[in-house]
Amino acid sequence: MYINGEWRAAKSGKRFDSLNPATGDVIDSVPDGGAGDALDAIAAADAAFAGWAGRTAYERSAILYKAWSLMIERKAELAKLMTTEQGKPLRAAENETQYAADFLLWYAEEAKRVYGETIPGPRGDQRFIIFKAPVGVVAAVTPWNYPISMLTRKLAPALAAGCTVVLKPAEATSLCAIAVFKILEEAGVPKGVVNLVTALDPKPIGDVFTSDPRVRKITFTGSTAVGKLLAGKAGQNLKRISMELGGHAPFIVWQDADPTHAAKGASLVKFLNTGQACISPNRMFVHKDAAAAFTEELTGRVEKLRAGNGLEKGVGIGPLVNEAAVAKVERQVEDARAKGARVMCGGHRLLDNGLDRGHFYAATVLADVTPDMLIYREETFGPVAAIVPFDDDDDVMAMANDTAYGLAAYVYTNNLAKALRTVEGLDFAIIGVNDINPTSAAAPFGGMKSSGLGREGGHEGIEEYLESKTAGFSI
Ligand code: ADP
Repeated sequence: MYINGEWRAAKSGKRFDSLNPATGDVIDSVPDGGAGDALDAIAAADAAFAGWAGRTAYERSAILYKAWSLMIERKAELAKLMTTEQGKPLRAAENETQYAADFLLWYAEEAKRVYGETIPGPRGDQRFIIFKAPVGVVAAVTPWNYPISMLTRKLAPALAAGCTVVLKPAEATSLCAIAVFKILEEAGVPKGVVNLVTALDPKPIGDVFTSDPRVRKITFTGSTAVGKLLAGKAGQNLKRISMELGGHAPFIVWQDADPTHAAKGASLVKFLNTGQACISPNRMFVHKDAAAAFTEELTGRVEKLRAGNGLEKGVGIGPLVNEAAVAKVERQVEDARAKGARVMCGGHRLLDNGLDRGHFYAATVLADVTPDMLIYREETFGPVAAIVPFDDDDDVMAMANDTAYGLAAYVYTNNLAKALRTVEGLDFAIIGVNDINPTSAAAPFGGMKSSGLGREGGHEGIEEYLESKTAGFSI
């Protein structure tokens, strides 16, 4: 763990293993931190806050630039570690590392653009100046599915704003977090400004983060269930929160779209990270006139995806994170099959050629999915494309919005007015129009409804780490 500028063991002396999800092999072990370690980390972040906030934006920016250049330099090495610990194919891990570095660069720039305001007072002798101030010590909790970019998406704006940070990564991807913190250390982040607590059991750390009065903000990416829990506890102590939670993305293919082009997009975005992404399309609503062509093209592409260890050439799809994830996918597919969905390809675990050592499920396409099926309602977080044919425009918009989630959505159409109306009608905060990657460090990312609160990325991302201070002057 990295606390107050030092690499330390857990107070308990305990460690836990980090495993390769493709092989089940132990990669290494990491300290198993507890509440006491979290308190030390908070104390360090609290002590470092005034000094860090007092540096000029230019100084903070220079350190973020340095971290960006180190991350780019080490892209291949970081990607290899990510593939080994998280499972995604090497090419995808390289792309994620680039995306992670993008946040360091973007907020190195934004650090210098934290502008306040001056406002005329209602009295002739009054002036208002609005200052922006960092919120203080930030506690961050991050997930395993994007184990490097989800860290920089929080660390970069927090550091740019002048906050200090205590971060607890997901237990499955602690080594990736350690690699990120090594970069920050080397880039010259002063001691205590960033602190890392690795732990097998997240609960005691979460309890400290949400109750300690020195922590002013909780930023979390993960499941809606845990997000609600942490937001509830943080709310009791009136801490600021940013929550980036689950999704259940619709992918709408209107009758005027090219079904082949749409299916190509669907095959690429659905199986990214083996479907383990909060913005993964979970319900593919395809107009009935386009459904046959779409299904055929998608199935043809998905059948060719080779599952395996992401370090091997030609592997397009990695393992799931653990047995529970495979069991969830299996349950959703079996339920759909029993209720009449057609399994076009996949639909089973992968156990041959040594894949039984990891957590593999075949890339699957389900046709004729209906609203009574689990997969229609629940987030899958696995490699299953569920196709729901539709007939009526109004119906499909209501079906797309009929979920507690509101993160990402995708729409394919060649009609501009239809595209605009769809964007306006969808209760989702990130919408790809004929585009499967509507994300960038430069654009806000976050959810509506049960998908979360707040935005990360873009110029909005740094606001989450700033307070407005109003100074009224009598002159
Ligand atoms: P997933 O279901 O994708 O694993 P989780 O929401 O369980 O997502 O995990 C996301 C992050 O939240 C991880 O870092 C995990 O350790 C952490 N986490 C899970 N439960 C708690 C908790 N009770 N308190 C604090 N953090 C938690």
